[in-house]
Amino acid sequence: MNDPSTKCPFCRILRGELPSKKVYENDHVFAFEDINPKAPTHVLVIPKKHFAGLKEAQEEDAEAIGRCHLAAAEIARQRKIEKGYRTVVNVGPGSGQSVFHLHVHLLGGRHLSWPPG
Ligand code: 5GP
Ligand code: ZN
Repeated sequence: MNDPSTKCPFCRILRGELPSKKVYENDHVFAFEDINPKAPTHVLVIPKKHFAGLKEAQEEDAEAIGRCHLAAAEIARQRKIEKGYRTVVNVGPGSGQSVFHLHVHLLGGRHLSWPPG
């Protein structure tokens, strides 16, 4: 009854209840275009298992977090943006996290300044 995945927008994308532009998928992760891109490449990579974010992650989620990053690296390779790209995990509302299903942003295809805002 209290399954957070019922209302989670990214679980709904995984279930096909909401549309998305799929970029990549394997047994563990799913990647799709961000609906409001902040760079020429802005892809979200999510674990197929729901958990709210890095703060809430458990030991058992370590592999999923790593696999999201490896998938981002693979997408960056495919898109030939390896000169410079960024993977970002926003953690908590103060950092801009607005969807509480862990996701790795893959940003690239333009110069990325440092430090980020
Ligand atoms: P956050 O701010 O939580 O780190 O990142 C959430 C990201 O998800 C934002 O960049 C936002 O544009 C994106 N987003 C939110 N809802 C949807 C959606 O329904 N579909 C897609 N493709 N992206 C979404
Ligand atoms: Zn979810």
